[in-house]
Amino acid sequence: MPPLSWKVNEIFYSIQGEGAHAGMPAVFLRLAGCSMGCDFCDTKYAFSGGKEMNGLQILVALSEYPSKTVVITGGEPAEQNLPGLISALKSAGHIVHLETNGAHDSDVSQADFVCVSPKKYVSKEMLKKADIIKLVVSQTTDLEDLKKYYNYENEKTTIYLQPESNKQENIDLCVKLVKEHPSARLSVQLHKLINVR
Ligand code: SF4
Repeated sequence: MPPLSWKVNEIFYSIQGEGAHAGMPAVFLRLAGCSMGCDFCDTKYAFSGGKEMNGLQILVALSEYPSKTVVITGGEPAEQNLPGLISALKSAGHIVHLETNGAHDSDVSQADFVCVSPKKYVSKEMLKKADIIKLVVSQTTDLEDLKKYYNYENEKTTIYLQPESNKQENIDLCVKLVKEHPSARLSVQLHKLINVR
């Protein structure tokens, strides 16, 4: 049987710009492929292609960096063998953070931190597994629909509202919403403000 492999768009070392760990250095492991097709997607370059890499090749690439924290992102990581990837990284001593749109119910029990960012549809099971639910907010967001995610807020799960593309009108809207719902948090895309990847 051939070894497990994944289509990888890029691996790079940067600063986490979003959510609960904004400001934290981490290695980003961006998997290729996402079938969701959001208009505002800022990683369209990762929709297809990717370099086929097995677990050993990925671990060797990650070993170049001083941080043991790996953020698995995409594309949509759950469109590949996500449990196998998390397991391989954990076996090598990595701290595994996951960014997923939550559309596919996946076994993410080994991950240290799970961020679910719902888009056109999301698995309710995945929402229950989230440490944070990150909601991208724009002028066209259905604010009534947004409220249903507050049902998943609990001691484990925090809601983050993220202004789409850091546009000022979207920031203003998120600030208003967070002030109205004080247990939610604001997530601006810090990496774009500080001009890093
Ligand atoms: S789910 Fe995420 S990666 Fe996929 S198209 Fe939408 S924004 Fe892009």
